[in-house]
Amino acid sequence: MSAVQSISGKGHAANAATYDVVVVGAGFAGMYMLHRLRKQGLSVRVYEQGGDVGGTWYWNRYPGARCDVESMQYSYSFSDELQQQWDWSERYAPQPEILKYANHVADRFKLRPDIQLGTRVDSAAFDERAGVWSVTTSDGKTVTAKYVVLATGCLSNARMPDIEGLSDFKGQVYHTGHWPHEQIDFTGLRVGVIGTGSSAIQSVPVIAEQARHLTVFQRTANFSIPARNAALTPEERDSFRSNYPELRRIAREESRNGIVQELPDRGALEDGDNVRRAKYETRWTRGGLTFMGVYNNLVLDKAANDTAANFVRDKIAQIVSDPSTAKLLQPDNHPIGAKRICVDTDYYATFNRANVTLVDIRSNPIERILPYSVRTAGKEGIRDYEVDALVLATGFDAMTGSVAKIDIRGRNGLTLNAKWAEGPRTYLGLMSAGFPNLFIITGPGSPSVLSNMIVSIEQHVDWIADCIATMRHRGLDTIEAGKDAEDRWVAHVNEVAQGTLYPQANSWYMGANIPGKPQIFMPYIGGVGVYRQICNDVAAKGYEGFVLTGAERQRAAS
Ligand code: NAP
Repeated sequence: MSAVQSISGKGHAANAATYDVVVVGAGFAGMYMLHRLRKQGLSVRVYEQGGDVGGTWYWNRYPGARCDVESMQYSYSFSDELQQQWDWSERYAPQPEILKYANHVADRFKLRPDIQLGTRVDSAAFDERAGVWSVTTSDGKTVTAKYVVLATGCLSNARMPDIEGLSDFKGQVYHTGHWPHEQIDFTGLRVGVIGTGSSAIQSVPVIAEQARHLTVFQRTANFSIPARNAALTPEERDSFRSNYPELRRIAREESRNGIVQELPDRGALEDGDNVRRAKYETRWTRGGLTFMGVYNNLVLDKAANDTAANFVRDKIAQIVSDPSTAKLLQPDNHPIGAKRICVDTDYYATFNRANVTLVDIRSNPIERILPYSVRTAGKEGIRDYEVDALVLATGFDAMTGSVAKIDIRGRNGLTLNAKWAEGPRTYLGLMSAGFPNLFIITGPGSPSVLSNMIVSIEQHVDWIADCIATMRHRGLDTIEAGKDAEDRWVAHVNEVAQGTLYPQANSWYMGANIPGKPQIFMPYIGGVGVYRQICNDVAAKGYEGFVLTGAERQRAAS
C-alpha cells in the first residue's frame, strides 16, 4: 500500500495531490533519492527549477567548466552496470559530458516521469494535525507529502555582487553559476572577469584565448594546482572498473574526503627540506586536489601548512614572467587549503599573455561599474578599465542559500530561516529540530562540500531511504532531530573546525562571502569515513538523538 492512501485517511485537503515524498531538486542527489525511494514502492514527486536534470552541472556552463575530482571517482556507484558501462573520456570530465551523464542516468533509470522540470518549490509547511507537509510550487499548485527531502545543492544559489552601477552596464553580463545555454563567443571583445575562485580559475584561460583583451579583477588570490587533465586510456578505465568494489569501499569508509588516494603517514615537519620539496614536486606533477594529501597535518599546523603554501608560491613565481603580477597572484592572507583549493589548466601561465591584465582590487577596489567600463579607486587613484562584456565569477550563497529561498515552516509555524538566523543548526546535517520528516541531503553539519560530493550524496540518500523504510515498517508517523542531540552536534562540528586552520580563511565555508551572513563553519571536517560510521551507529541504535512519534501500529497489530 502506498502512503498516498495512508495519508489521505487523515482528512487532508481532498483536492491536493498527495505523495509519500516530495524531493526538491533533480541534481545528482535528487535523482538518486527518487530512484531509491521508488524502489521501496513509494510515490515520489521531484520538482526541479531548471529546464532539465543535472543541478549544478545544468547551471554552471561557463567556458572551461569541469569537475575537480577525477571522473572515475566523481560518478555514481549504486549501479555496477552503470559504472562498468559509462565511458568517461578524460581524467576530469568537462561540464557537457557530466551533464550528458546526468541525462543518461535519468533515462536509464526512467526517472523523468516523476520529475517536474521548470518548477520551483516556493514553500513547505508542516501541518501538525494531519502530520504532512503542504508544498506549494511556482506553477501555483499545492501538493502534500509525508516527507520532504531537500536535494537543493550546496552551490546552486549564484550570488550577484552588490557593485554600484552594475545595472547601468551596456554590455552583456554573465554569472558563471548561471551561464546561458547558447554558445557565448568572446572573440574580438574586451572582457572583464570579476572574482578569482575556482570558476574564474577554470574560465580565465579559455576566455583569454578568445577575447581581444581580458582584465581579471582580483580581490583575493587563491592557491591553484595544475589539473594535468588528459584523455583516459582504456587501460586506466579498466584498472578502475576491475577494482571498483574495493575502491568505492575505501572512498566511503576509509577516506577523509571520499577520494581514494595514498594516505599520508607523517607530518610535513618530519621530513627535511629536500625530501619535502621532492614530495610536493611529485604531487604537483601528478596534479589535482590530492596535493593537500602529501602530509597529514597540512590543515592542522600552520608551520606545516607554510611549507606547502611556500612551495606553491614559488611555483607561481616560476611560471609568471612579470614579478609584480606573480606577487599579486601569490596568496598571502590564508593558509593553503583553508579555502577550497582550485584546480586549473594553465591559469597562472595565462597572465603571461599580452592580452591579459590582472587588476588588484584589494588595494584599488571597484568603485562602480560605468556603462562601458569598470572603475577602480584606491592607491593608484581612479582608473577606468574599458570592457565590452563582464563575467561575474563571484560565487554562491553556499550551503544554505538555496534552502533559504524556500519558505519552510515547521512545528508551531517556526520558519527554518528564523531558526537558522544565527547560522544553520542541524543534527548530522540531515535534519533540524522542529522540522519533522524534512531531510536535507549534504546539508550543513555534514562533510558535504569538503568531500567528493557524489560519495556524500549516496551516503545521505541511502541513510534517508533506510530511515523512511524503517519508519514505515514500524508504523511511525514522524522523525525529527532532538534538540539536545542537535545542540551537541553543532558544538561538535564547531569544535572539530576550531582544531584546524580552516577558520583562518574568510571562505564561503564560513559564510564569509555573503555580507551579513553569520560566520559559522558549515561543513563537518571529521571525514567521510568517520561521519558515515556515526550515522550508521545512530541508525543502529534506533535513531539515537532523533525523536520518533506514532504508534508502533504494525507491531501492536501483530
Ligand atoms: P568563490 O570561490 O566564492 O569565488 C568568488 C570570487 O569572487 C572570489 O575571488 C571573491 O573574492 C570574488 N568576489 C565575490 N564578490 C565580489 C565582489 N563584490 N567584488 C569583487 N570580487 C568579488 O566562487 P566560485 O569560484 O564560483 O567557486 C565556488 C565553489 O564552487 C568552489 O570553491 C568549488 O567548491 C565549487 N566549484 C567547483 C568547480 C569544480 O569542480 N571544478 C568549479 C567551480 C566551482 P574574495 O575571495 O575576496 O571574496
